[in-house]
Order: sequence, then C-alpha cells, then structure tokens
Amino acid sequence: MIKTIRLIMIMLLLQHVGFSQAREILKVREWREKNENRLLKEYLNFLSVPNIAADTVSLLKNADIIMEMLRTSGVQKVQLLKPVTKGAAPAVFGEVITPGAKQTIIFYAHYDGQPVNPANWYKGLDPFKPVLTNGPLGNSFQILPVPDAQTSIDPDWRIFGRGASDDKAGVMSIITAYQALVSSSQKPSVNIKFFFEGEEEAGSAHLGEIMETHRSLLGSDLWIMCDGPVHQSGRKSISFGVRGDANMELILYGPNKPLHSGHYGNWVRNPAWQLVQLMATMKNDKGEVTIKGYYDDVAPLSELEKKALREMPQVDEQMKKELGIVTTEMEGKSLYESYNFPSLNINGIRSADVGAMAANVIPVKASVVLDLRQVAGTDWQKQQQKVVEHIRSRGYYVTEKEPTEEERAKYPDIIQVIRKSGYNAQKTRMDLPVAEKLINAIQSTTAEKVVRVPTMGGSLPLFIFEQTLGATVITVPIANHDNNQHAENENIRIRNLWNGIETMASIMLMK
Ligand SMILES: [Zn+2]
Repeated sequence: MIKTIRLIMIMLLLQHVGFSQAREILKVREWREKNENRLLKEYLNFLSVPNIAADTVSLLKNADIIMEMLRTSGVQKVQLLKPVTKGAAPAVFGEVITPGAKQTIIFYAHYDGQPVNPANWYKGLDPFKPVLTNGPLGNSFQILPVPDAQTSIDPDWRIFGRGASDDKAGVMSIITAYQALVSSSQKPSVNIKFFFEGEEEAGSAHLGEIMETHRSLLGSDLWIMCDGPVHQSGRKSISFGVRGDANMELILYGPNKPLHSGHYGNWVRNPAWQLVQLMATMKNDKGEVTIKGYYDDVAPLSELEKKALREMPQVDEQMKKELGIVTTEMEGKSLYESYNFPSLNINGIRSADVGAMAANVIPVKASVVLDLRQVAGTDWQKQQQKVVEHIRSRGYYVTEKEPTEEERAKYPDIIQVIRKSGYNAQKTRMDLPVAEKLINAIQSTTAEKVVRVPTMGGSLPLFIFEQTLGATVITVPIANHDNNQHAENENIRIRNLWNGIETMASIMLMK
C-alpha cells in the first residue's frame, strides 16, 4: 500500500517538474527513511538543551551541539562568530565550497527560543523534556515512547518542546539536508554557508555587530531564512517579506494608594476606566486604527504582489473554524491582505487583581503593552510617535519617566510612555531571477503548487541583513501552522520536519 502511494507520488512529482531534480530529491527521501529513528533521537536530544535568552551557559551548549553536527557532516570552517560585546550568544558558522559553483547560498536559522512558563504547559509536558506524541493536543492525545529502530514513525506524530518548531527545526532540517546529500552521494550545485543565530528571540541585539565583525565570511547571493510556519493550507510556501515590530507600554496613574471602592468610588477617578476609554479611541468597531495618519505611510502593493495575493489558497474560513471565532477585523480583507497594514495590538492590559485575588478597590494605576507591527513604508519610531500624539490630543500629560509628586499634583491626566526598541519591515522583490530559481527548486519536492507569500505576518529583523551586508533575503518556512510558536505546548509535526529536509536539500541543488 505504502509502496503504491509512493509510486503515485513519484509520478505526480515527475509530471510536475523536471525529471532530474525530482530524482535527486527522491534519493534524499530514501536516505531519510532509512535514518528516521536516528534523526528523531538526535532531534529529541537537541531539544532537551534549554535555549532561553538569559541562560548563556545552555545557549553555548546548543552552539556546541550544532558545531558537532556540522563537523560530523563534513562541513568546513566550523566556528563561533562572536560579537564584540562580551557575553552575547554567538552565531554558529560553517561552509561548504562546491567546485565549479557560481552561486553561494547562506542558510539561516536560530537556536534560541522564547521564554517559557512550564506551569502553562499541558499536563505531562515539559518545555525541555521533549516528547513524541500521537498528534496535536485533543481528546485522543497521547505521549508515545521513543520508538526503537524497528518501529516505523508516523509522520503525523508530533514532538512537543520549546524550540521544536521555532527554530531548532530550521537548524535540524538544514544540517540534515546537507547530510542527506552527502550520504546519498550527491553534490550540491551551490556553495553553502550555514549561519545559526543565538539571539533572535531576544531581539537580535548583536546580529549587526556579528555581521560587521565577520563580514568577510558572510558574502552570498542569497540568504535563506528558515523560520516560521508554512501556509495554513499545508502547502509549501516562500515569503518575500516580513513585518517590522515595535512595542510600547503605557502606564496611566490614579490615586497614590489603593482606595476602598465604597468610600471613594464615584468620586476618585479610576485609572482602569480611564485607560479602557482611551484605548477605545484608538480603534473603531471595524478594527481600523483611528490614530491620525496611522496608515498614511503604507507603501502600495506591486502588481506581482496583488497577483500573488489573488492566487493564494484562501484559508480564512478554515482559520475561523480552527480558532473558534465568527467575525474578523478589517472587514472584506483576507488574513494575508491584512498583513499589509500596520497593526496596533493590545498584548496585555493590567490593573489591580481579578479572580481569587479580586478586591473592591480603586486601583492606583492601569497599564497596557502595545505591539505595533510595521509594513513596507512605515517607520516604527514615527508610528510610536503617532500613538503618543494621539494620547496628547486626548488631553493627557505624557512623560517618559515615572511621574514625580509635583507632576501628579499639577496634571489631572498623566500617562507614562515607555518606548521599546523596534525595527522596520523588509521586502524582497518578487521578480528577481534568483527567486524564480528558488521557487523551481522547491517546486521539485512537491506536487502541490508552492505558495508565494508577499509578506509574512510575523517579524524578523531582516533589514539588518540588507543594511549591513547588502544581502538578498527570502524566507522559506517549514513548521506546521498550528505549532504554538512562542507559547506553551510548542510542537512540530514530524511530516514538516521531513518535508523541511527535502525543501532545504532542493535549495542546495538549485539549478
Ligand atoms: Zn523564530
């Protein structure tokens, strides 16, 4: 049965693409099938090393594992690229020169992960004790034993653990793809460089520094960013842009101590009420940001981008069902269209306590953390300034520090604004010749049409690559869309890991 399915798949592949490249990918697949159990164990081991930003010792352990993986695969010049700043996590570098190759491709993934709160993980799951499961969380969810060499691995099984999809899956699939090529006696068509960052989730604060310091090693024709989820349809996708991002925190001050809501309610103004009233002036009930000029700088979409958006499989109805929602913001615009507008998200809002800790009080302050996604044309600092101007226009006194007693005595409405650092969006033209080659390469691994995404919803600091190295950057994600990236219960579907190996190998074989 499996053989028949495979034969049909092969025929589909051959119909769709040139014979030679599909054949090369099939060799990669055969090699992977023979090595699945070993690869799975190696991956579980890699995931069991903690990788959060504050834990420098563990980050270095991760870097060591990656260097070892590169060395045993026969990669040359394996080394740590350290920034000048002491204590910052290094990037891991390696290189493969292909005699006669005219192009050089650098593969990027990051080995650090988002912070974790183990208490939020589903019972029995631990962010750094990765486990194999029979599928996503749900009624029939089960943790499985690690299979022995004789047990075949179901590609719909998943691995749960921090970094399982974001972004150790990228590291694993890139290195394994190269291993698969070498072990199946195939020669890459390009020079390959490997670059694995250790600070992405902490804001890539030293990435520019690493690039400046080690510029001579980092020349290339194309950077492949292996990060983020594939299209929700499950089809392979490549993204030509990412949104930028910037945060800010607003703290609205009330009375200088918490008050009895009976003795003072109706008389002392409540900062929680004031904050929600202020926030309500920033968005209308259609979900449009009503801050003056918020959409003014948005660059119009190119004809190619519009075409790509039209041709993308529609997933809005599927996603509404999946997420348990009925209506969406920005009426009439699809999920992927909405990525082309700057957002203003409330990440969290807080004032006094709720639940078991709730008390009848007038709180002393109320705060909100905002997330401002940037698109082509917008500048993150300008967008932050527009929010500040809006707050001022509502009569607030804005300060960047905690207000003094004098200020509190003088101004009736005070907000402290904390501007966090951010970065702008990045876009690569969709009509570059190298983009066409890349799509053809990835297309050789799948019978379904590769989805071209003008911009991803998420953010990566890709502008640094452009600015520092003048690089061309395209994102090739591999993770399943329901991977719980950045949250508890992060997971990767095994099929995505296996597909990812073939995707990365196809790029190393790019014609
Ligand atoms: Zn990531």
